[in-house]
Amino acid sequence: MKFAITSKGNSESNTLMHKMKSYLLDFELIYDEEEPDLVISVGGDGTLLYAFHRYSSRLDRTAFIGVHTGHLGFYADWVPEEIEKLVIAIAKTPYEIVEYPLLETVVRYQNGGKETRYLALNESTVKADDATLVMDVEIRGQHFERFRGDGLCLSTPSGSTAYNKALGGAILHPSLPAIQLAEMASINNKVFRTVGSPLVLPAHHTCMLKPVNEQDFKITIDHLSLLHKDVKSIQFRVAEERVRFARFRPFPFWKRVHDSFVAD
Ligand code: NAD
Repeated sequence: MKFAITSKGNSESNTLMHKMKSYLLDFELIYDEEEPDLVISVGGDGTLLYAFHRYSSRLDRTAFIGVHTGHLGFYADWVPEEIEKLVIAIAKTPYEIVEYPLLETVVRYQNGGKETRYLALNESTVKADDATLVMDVEIRGQHFERFRGDGLCLSTPSGSTAYNKALGGAILHPSLPAIQLAEMASINNKVFRTVGSPLVLPAHHTCMLKPVNEQDFKITIDHLSLLHKDVKSIQFRVAEERVRFARFRPFPFWKRVHDSFVAD
């Protein structure tokens, strides 16, 4: 089996990375940064997001696992003290794979510019470059509302515990093939009205944002942020691709939610 390790880059993560690499090489596993079957991320959730984007073109052939050197992460749930156990598990046992849904974002441009397509593990957000965001929101091809406010956040179920949660969105179990639309500070008064609640869309529904006036937007995909100019529409749906996590022990999602947000 071929493996790669990505590190957060701080000294603790780098030391752990070198230790794991040497243990796994001792077990005669092959280190291959280009075409790994297993990617071990050492750091935090941000490190795993980085690893996901690095290998997003080969998701069907890559499984991820996260070790955290800071606080318990949603994607990084092994602790440094467990790495010997983890290395033996990787080397000796056929591992179970769990698959989670992803968000597809397609940005289309005015004047026939080539569309861009992104996959997000957590979420994609849309904000105006330097003003209130004004967007017509269509769901399944039907006009739903005209949104005015700071921005909109479309998240995956596994990303529902990240930015989405801070926006008052619901936590979705990652086995659900769905995406969630959450508002950022919508303007609601006698003149302007939005639904005001997060919406959860199933896999066969598409959410489309269409600019009303301003056409330049800051669009984030997980930790990546880009300014898009002359935007005609931004389309979101559950992606056909899925992310695969290698599972060596049960760690139920609701326990992770409890341990992260309620109490250890
Ligand atoms: P960062 O270092 O600022 O990390 C943000 C925090 O989000 C970290 O504590 C991380 O553990 C946590 N996180 C990431 N994914 C998570 C998940 N799926 N469930 C629960 N917590 C999660 O930034 P980064 O490392 O570059 O991560 C980018 C992410 O930061 C974005 O995908 C977004 O979800 C999150 N973010 C959150 C807010 C907010 O909560 N107000 C604002 C901006 C970005």
